[in-house]
Amino acid sequence: MTSTSFANFQNSASGAKGIIHLESITKSYYMGKQELLVLKGISLDIFKNEYVALMGPSGSGKSTLMNILGCLDSPTGGTYILNGQDVSKMPDNDLAEVRNKEIGFVFQQFNLMPRLTAVENVALPLVYAGVSKKLRIEMAMNVLEKVSLTDRSHHKPNELSGGQCQRVAIARALVNNPSLILADEPTGNLDSKTSVEIMDIFGAIQAAGNTVVLVTHEEDIANYAHRIIRLRDGVIESDKRRPPTPVEQLAVV
Ligand code: ADP
Ligand code: MG
Repeated sequence: MTSTSFANFQNSASGAKGIIHLESITKSYYMGKQELLVLKGISLDIFKNEYVALMGPSGSGKSTLMNILGCLDSPTGGTYILNGQDVSKMPDNDLAEVRNKEIGFVFQQFNLMPRLTAVENVALPLVYAGVSKKLRIEMAMNVLEKVSLTDRSHHKPNELSGGQCQRVAIARALVNNPSLILADEPTGNLDSKTSVEIMDIFGAIQAAGNTVVLVTHEEDIANYAHRIIRLRDGVIESDKRRPPTPVEQLAVV
């Protein structure tokens, strides 16, 4: 499919707020006294079960926006309502709690703990959530099965391929049953065959009812999503969604 089949996206006529609701979000960094305005007023709704690709040239602010969406960072100005809760001015401690409960994050570099096995890596968010060890391992094994890695559960990251590491990272993102899955260039370190396998997993996650937002600079990867938002120089340049394919339409009940 080509990006020309994407139509301009407009928020729902009812004015309903999305699971993500952004109003005039700005973000500045200070280099000494020099202010660098990276996000210049982003307003946006992302609805439950949407599958969104965030694109744009290097330096356009994609990772900065993702980090704000993922509650890893706070905006300088504007409002961010996540699942009905204003998180824009939340203290770091509370933000960490929201992040742990609501968000699964997948990074380009996998970010696994090298000394822990796959199942221990996946179980890690459950330690912070206060789940007992026995239950942690059980839950982690369940999600490892979803990403077809049961047979690698006791291997450490350096004994796994890049694609397997990313599957462990996806399992870790899913283990808390978050309302939102965010992925920043999740296929950036993978070959094209492995990228397709990883994108199939994100497709299955979205089809199971999750909301997925991913950053990519590859059109092929973005076309797995249903909506493409393009950033340029800290503003939204375009926001387009494509009609569902016949197969996707069948899946809607
Ligand atoms: P992208 O992910 O689209 O490549 P980023 O969001 O990483 O872009 O960066 C956008 C701009 O913000 C770049 O000019 C980058 O140099 C700058 N930037 C990002 N993070 C920081 C930071 N922590 N301190 C200062 N400048 C930053
Ligand atoms: Mg980036």
